[in-house]
Amino acid sequence: MSIFSEKHDIFRKNVQRFVASEINPHMGKWERDEYFPAELMPKLGDMGCLGITFPEEYGGAGEDWIMSLVFHEELARSTGMGIPISITAHTDMSLPHLARLGTAEQKKRYLAPAIRGEKLAGVWVTEPYCGSDVAAIKTTAHRSGDHYIVNGSKQFSTNALKGDFGIMLVRTGEADSGHRGLTMLIVETSTPGFKAAPIRKMALRSGDTGTIYLDNVRVPVENRLDEENRGFYNQMVGFERERLSLAATAVGSVQVALDEAVSYARERKAFGRPIGKFQVITHRLVDIAVKLEAARQLMYRAVEMFCDGVEGKQDAATKKMCYMAKLFATDVAQELVSSAAQVFGGSVVDDDLIVSRLYRDIRIGTLGGGTSEIMKNIIGGLMGL
Ligand SMILES: Cc1cc2nc3c(=O)[nH]c(=O)nc-3n(C[C@H](O)[C@H](O)[C@H](O)COP(=O)(O)OP(=O)(O)OC[C@H]3O[C@@H](n4cnc5c(N)ncnc54)[C@H](O)[C@@H]3O)c2cc1C
Repeated sequence: MSIFSEKHDIFRKNVQRFVASEINPHMGKWERDEYFPAELMPKLGDMGCLGITFPEEYGGAGEDWIMSLVFHEELARSTGMGIPISITAHTDMSLPHLARLGTAEQKKRYLAPAIRGEKLAGVWVTEPYCGSDVAAIKTTAHRSGDHYIVNGSKQFSTNALKGDFGIMLVRTGEADSGHRGLTMLIVETSTPGFKAAPIRKMALRSGDTGTIYLDNVRVPVENRLDEENRGFYNQMVGFERERLSLAATAVGSVQVALDEAVSYARERKAFGRPIGKFQVITHRLVDIAVKLEAARQLMYRAVEMFCDGVEGKQDAATKKMCYMAKLFATDVAQELVSSAAQVFGGSVVDDDLIVSRLYRDIRIGTLGGGTSEIMKNIIGGLMGL
């Protein structure tokens, strides 16, 4: 039984057409230039891709998350993960916090233009000295009248360079308040004292990733999401959707690597025949296809369970399935893309080869949205360990 309706299938074809015509012809150049094409955002907004599950009142489509799954799977066909990761940081890591916690004014000011693709958003939690250990955040926000004064820095911040605003987790409690002293603020990148510097990356070169420096940045109190010191708990709520979208991106990317390897195996000749006729190559490609399908089906099951529940109030079985889907898809993707790369022989060192790009980019899967080790810690906890 399929989880997809005819409406999902039509949307899938639209996204496929968009990726084939608006992204893939330019990917090589964007990767070489380390250029994130923010100009795609209004086009995606027009297609209804940036607010799939959000309320129609703010320009969203009010659809289920299966539609988002379709979007992420097909966006990952863009022969590199930099652009999909930047777009996912906007749609499924940043905006859900605004949709769930924002006041009507905040939604009008930030959510609605972000859904139209007029503003680009990120979520900025990680710092130079803490990633997995979110409770150790050091960036401070001290109250001064009707503003917070923010000082510190954020590391690996997606959409920090071309973004218009980000949901930033900052310390409003005492230095030793741990997870109980964190607050979410909407920080505009144009605020004086906000500086973002690019990071030279071996992967995701067409994605937008920067280091943020905050020097006495004045953020209006009205830009706070929810109560003071609720930030850690609110950050933890969005993780199912974020992790499912990363699983979908991994699955879509492995599919690209497999398709590329199959066509190369048909064309490339050695010892008088196409290399795909050597049984060892056939078996390699079949192994990739089988493990990819296993990852895909685990993810589909997790998405089905996720859609049956209420977002933010998922039961333990659903959370476990979502984290398992992310863990398995991103872990196995490392192995499968590497295996696909072997089919290309020495050509794999060609920087412009699609499979080489994916071989680099696929590293993000087991790191972003919680590392594989952290996934196992959480799943172990949900298993009562
Ligand atoms: C390209 C890119 C984009 C990113 N975008 C964003 C973004 O937009 N916003 C954002 O906030 N962050 C972003 N990140 C950061 C990402 O979420 C972190 O890299 C990730 O959470 C891991 O944190 P860390 O790098 O500090 O590693 P660390 O937490 O220092 O971990 C190092 C190693 O130790 C392991 N480890 C740590 N703690 C434990 C434990 N308790 N048990 C077992 N093993 C453990 C980890 O699994 C890892 O293998 C991005 C990262 C990259 C590479």
